[in-house]
Amino acid sequence: MATIFSMIVAGDIPSYKVAENDQFYAFLDINPLAKGHTLVIPKREVDYFFDLTDEEIAAMQVFAKHVAAAIKEAFPCKKVGQAVLGLEVPHAHIHLVPMQSEKDMLFSNPKLKLTPEEFKAIAEAIANKFV
Ligand code: AMP
Repeated sequence: MATIFSMIVAGDIPSYKVAENDQFYAFLDINPLAKGHTLVIPKREVDYFFDLTDEEIAAMQVFAKHVAAAIKEAFPCKKVGQAVLGLEVPHAHIHLVPMQSEKDMLFSNPKLKLTPEEFKAIAEAIANKFV
């Protein structure tokens, strides 16, 4: 059974896409800690981040770097924080979260409730800055 994230990559489940290349896909987290909270995933289905190959982790981190730069341009912040949890969805992913303070990285914080139009606008704003 494919993971929900593989179904997103396949286009079987909708997502607010931010960027992609042949190996990786970036889309908005549906329960964001902040506007611009993005997930970066490998298209290859692997549960535990550290089970990815050395080459995949290196390439994924470079891809995430470019996504983070686009997030920071679209949503000015002190820095874009990065976290790997993976306790909920068994498909490796990097969280990228625009931070104004350390507290913005607390996953126990209440999540933002955004409309589909807001999600769409956020994804477009980041996608437009992605190079
Ligand atoms: P974790 O596995 O603990 O890193 O958490 C998984 C993250 O994926 C959570 O922040 C969820 O809000 C997010 N998530 C789960 N399903 C979707 C989805 N269909 N689209 C976007 N984000 C999702």
